[in-house]
Amino acid sequence: MATCSAPKRDGTPCTTPVVGDGRKCWAHDPAMAEKRAEKRRLGGQNRSTAKRLSKIMPVRLVPVWDQLEQALADVLSGDLDPRQATAAAAVARALAVILQAGEVEERIRALEAQQPPSEQAGRRYPWQA
Ligand SMILES: [Zn+2]
Repeated sequence: MATCSAPKRDGTPCTTPVVGDGRKCWAHDPAMAEKRAEKRRLGGQNRSTAKRLSKIMPVRLVPVWDQLEQALADVLSGDLDPRQATAAAAVARALAVILQAGEVEERIRALEAQQPPSEQAGRRYPWQA
């Protein structure tokens, strides 16, 4: 399989396989670069993706997704140190864990608040009638 003809930022050749009939990988493909630049202009938020993701993940994690997606592209194009991307992913993972724990706690409290007072005070069993 052909590899990308673009140089990485440090001058060494990119070794990522090319996309389709092109001569560059998806990270170095000018068409993809335009898409990424456009995305940055929109404040790092692809609205349709953000809308879709907000249905399946906590809304506060949607911008984190955008940043990690950009980090992936930048690592593959040689524009970002993989160690920085690894550190960013680790912090993002910690954010997700804390946020999820908070959401579970919030749901439990909401369920407890819905319980009628009689059930909270003491359950009556059939043999107690
Ligand atoms: Zn490349």
